[in-house]
Amino acid sequence: MVMRYCLILPAIFTCLFNAEARSIPVGLYHDRVISSVVISCSTGTYHIESGDEIIGTMEEGELLFVRLENDSLVLHDSDREYGSFMEIRLNYMALGSSFRIRPIEPALESRTYDDNLILRGGDRFITLVNLVDFDKYLAGVVEAEAGPNAEPEFYKAQSVLCRTYAVKYLDRHETEGYALCDGVHCQAYRGKSIYNPAILEAVVETTGEVLTDSNHQLIVAAYHSNSGGQTQRAADVWVTNHPCLQSVVDPYSLHQPNAKWSDTISFRDWKNYLIRNGMKSVHKMPDEIIYIEQMRRKKYFILDRDSMLMTKIREDWGFKSSFFDMFPEGDSIIIWGKGYGHGIGMSQEGAMKMARDGYLYRDILHFYFYNVKLMDFGDLPAYSLPDVQFR
Ligand SMILES: [Zn+2]
Repeated sequence: MVMRYCLILPAIFTCLFNAEARSIPVGLYHDRVISSVVISCSTGTYHIESGDEIIGTMEEGELLFVRLENDSLVLHDSDREYGSFMEIRLNYMALGSSFRIRPIEPALESRTYDDNLILRGGDRFITLVNLVDFDKYLAGVVEAEAGPNAEPEFYKAQSVLCRTYAVKYLDRHETEGYALCDGVHCQAYRGKSIYNPAILEAVVETTGEVLTDSNHQLIVAAYHSNSGGQTQRAADVWVTNHPCLQSVVDPYSLHQPNAKWSDTISFRDWKNYLIRNGMKSVHKMPDEIIYIEQMRRKKYFILDRDSMLMTKIREDWGFKSSFFDMFPEGDSIIIWGKGYGHGIGMSQEGAMKMARDGYLYRDILHFYFYNVKLMDFGDLPAYSLPDVQFR
């Protein structure tokens, strides 16, 4: 097991920081327990390899079946059984190749990926790793995280954030044998970007660019759907301080699709909830004042000497954001909310509006992030990069 990682990963990570061939290993369907898949070649020709040997080829339209049996991968196509292997690699013969995967057990949606695939056996599931050009990976992420209908300058800003995030967390799945997973735990990646060619163009035009603070440290490249008119200071939500993530008054997010929301809860449930959470002052306060009002974002709801984090209230009640006001209506409370998401960093809808108004991606990033620099990650000092160690 350890030897296997040893053979593959150091070379891959060296590649990532080499301008000639920046590629990244991404774990696919990482939160599913997959024991059988069918793979088809969408474009190009692939060598099927195990160890140092080429054991076959896969041409456009051909299918390959892989199932797990006693920890090993049993491989066959429509003509022949190849045998069983601990690891199989599908390596393209020309740039621009792509393949499609469809998990059979369990049955899941199929997805198309650029570049190469590594399959590894194991005691419970097959590990699937897409070894993909870093920019093509980012185009897939940008499409999954932001959709296909935005302006090029927005896509450039989003690309820089997704790249910053990816480089900062390259060591997240080190023990599993890849850099990042394809879920929201890292960044959503559902395969090749296919809906809008402007996405890959935006990624390529910003290639290598990441956001750092004044000490060349990669920032936490946070983004969310809509700020509701004011972004949230990271220190109001997270334990550690992030000087680049301050609260910004954000007029661009107003009047966008997720700028407003509303909800209704019962007054009695609200009062009981506050008491259950230690807000004892509720007992001595008149009902008219146990409501939340926020002209500007607050960190706490304060009532006499008691307080509760706004983020906890949002989480407990499942509200779209922690930026809202309450109004009494009979036995109920109407909630008028602003924005969608945690509110930290770039508001995607605000950034889309800025791009439509003619702002450049650099302007957008400097608007949402305080005191940041755009740098090529290849120029970062070693102390600013994750310490990826492989046994
Ligand atoms: Zn992850």
